[in-house]
This record gives sequence, C-alpha cells and structure tokens, in this order.
Amino acid sequence: PFDVLVVGGGPAGAAAAVYAARKGIRTGIASERFGGQVLDTLGIENFISVKETEGPKFALALEEHVRHYDVDVMNLQRAKGLVRHGDLVEVQLESGASLKARSVILSTGARWRTINVPGEQEYRNKGVAYCPHCDGPLFKGKRVAVIGGGNSGVEAAIDLAGVVEHVTLIEYDTQLRADAVLQRKLASLPNVTTIVNARTTEITGDGSRVDGLVYEDRASGESHRVELAGVFVQIGLVPNTEWLRGTVELSRHGEIVVDARGATSVPGVFAAGDATTVPFKQIIIAAGDGAKAALAAFDHLIRQPVN
Ligand code: FAD
Repeated sequence: PFDVLVVGGGPAGAAAAVYAARKGIRTGIASERFGGQVLDTLGIENFISVKETEGPKFALALEEHVRHYDVDVMNLQRAKGLVRHGDLVEVQLESGASLKARSVILSTGARWRTINVPGEQEYRNKGVAYCPHCDGPLFKGKRVAVIGGGNSGVEAAIDLAGVVEHVTLIEYDTQLRADAVLQRKLASLPNVTTIVNARTTEITGDGSRVDGLVYEDRASGESHRVELAGVFVQIGLVPNTEWLRGTVELSRHGEIVVDARGATSVPGVFAAGDATTVPFKQIIIAAGDGAKAALAAFDHLIRQPVN
C-alpha cells in the first residue's frame, strides 16, 4: 500500500504529493486531469513570487515538480469510491482497479457551474470569467456584468464595482437571494445596476472578445441588450465530491468538511483545496492547504502502532 495516496492533481494535490514525498514515504497521486482547473486558465497573476504566468505552463510546472520526486503518478484515473478497511483506505477507480493506502488526501477540486447559453464557451477567457479575484483587474475601467444574485454574485458585484467602471448584476429570480447586509451594500454603490427577473439568453462578441449580452425580461418577454467587455458567471461552484457521498462528511454544498489540519470525518483521510470547506478558492490557498494536509497525514502515520 501507499503511505500517502493523493486523489486529484491540481495545485492542492501537487503540493500534497511533493510534501509527502519529501518525507521519504511511499507516495502516489491519481488524477483524472493533472493540473486541474489551472489548465483552463489563461493568465495567472496572483501566485505570489510569480508575477505572471499562463495556466497550462503553471500546470506543467506542477507536474514537473511532482515528478522530480519519487512519486507514483497515475494520470487519467477517475476515483469512484472510498472504503475503509481497518488501518487501510481503499480508493476504487472507474477503470476497475483499486488502490490501497495508509492515508489518503482528497483534492478533487471543483468546477464552476455554467449557464449554457450561446457565447459562453466561445468567449471563455475572452471576456467570460468565473473568478472576480482572479480576473477582476483585467476589466479595470470597463463595463461588466455579473450573472447570479446569490451571495457569490452579489459579493462579486461589490468587489468588481471597486475595480471596473460599471457593473450590471443580472438575477433570474424576481429578487436577489444574497444576505440582506450584502444587498444593502450593493444598493449603496453608485456604479451598479441590478436587473431582476431576467434570463440571460446569449453572450455576444465580435469574434475575438465579448461585447455584450442579451437577456429576456421574464415579465414582458422582451429582449434587451447590454454592451459590456466582460461577463462574470456566478451561479455556483460545484465541488467534485459526488463520489464521496455517504462515506466522508460533506457540507450542504457538497464540500468536504475539514478541520484546521485538513482532517476529514474519516480517520487517516485528509483533504485540501477547492473540494473542501476552506473559504476562498484560489491556487495559492489550495497549494498551502495541500502542504498542510500532507504534513497532517505524515503526523497521523508516525502515530500508528508498529506492526
Ligand atoms: P482543481 O484545480 O480543481 O484540481 C482538481 C484535480 O482533481 C484535477 O486533477 C481533476 O482532474 C481531479 N479530479 C476531480 N475529480 C476526480 C476524481 N473523481 N478522481 C480523480 N481525480 C479527480 N485561482 C487563482 O489563484 N488565480 C487565478 O488567476 C485563477 N484563475 C482561474 C481561472 C479559471 C477559468 C478557473 C476555472 C479557476 C481559476 N482559479 C484561479 C481558481 C483555481 O484554479 C483553483 O482555486 C485551484 O485550481 C484549486 O485547486 P485544487 O487542487 O483544489 O483543485
């Protein structure tokens, strides 16, 4: 068995694998797509000490760093179940194989919920964005929309209002669903317009970049167009934890519940990154938590009885 088996090869998993391997223990990392969300990112400007880089380049650097150590890298492997047998944890893969380990680090990340309208895929990273902390500054002095009036949408609109020229917040429902305190803050901002009861039907562009969006007023059925340089889709971040339901404690949003050391509800099983309850989903936070989970797993291993 592995001493540490990491499931998920994004920034959290890569950091966990490096930290575990540096303890000289038997380490493996199984992931569906090594690199994770970073592979879908164009520019990264907030990984401290790297002024700017590109997602695919960053992903390659993660894999090179992991491979520099004696780590068993198992790519294109999707985990489908986790079972504990005494001191060992078994991770079952969709390929039919299964891996056993004395400790496991779950770092399967998350995915942004998409609105699935024409233009969204085409202009992804060309004006369509999902992360205000990451991409907000790219729209300095420009007009943007935020789709989604829950907490994350309203937080994004407040955040962006301080950076961009103007924000149009679009909510499908007849009212915003964010906490009252956020709604009051939003209403106090002069450069935000809120449109409710509106169904976004298309994100438009000039072939190379976003230039607007079209929404339908659900009350009148009329279509309206707003001219913009960017659209932030904020209708939810979904953790990749469906496969853990019933075995590891999840929050009501499906996030793996972790304590300050990254421990989950299952002894010997730790977790890190966007798949967990950690607040703020960012590369540097995921990587830091991956390191923390690996050290916690090592601490767990050295406390196991000698056989
Ligand atoms: P992920 O990166 O999501 O990696 C998850 C890993 O688990 C992947 O290898 C995946 O294939 C694997 N996996 C999933 N399910 C399974 C399974 N069942 N079995 C096996 N493997 C599985 N953050 C920043 O800090 N700066 C930015 O500029 C930035 N820009 C972003 C731009 C975009 C378009 C997106 C989508 C995100 C951006 N983020 C940015 C957020 C950042 O990418 C994430 O916070 C970070 O990647 C989280 O790392 P992670 O390791 O927790 O998960």
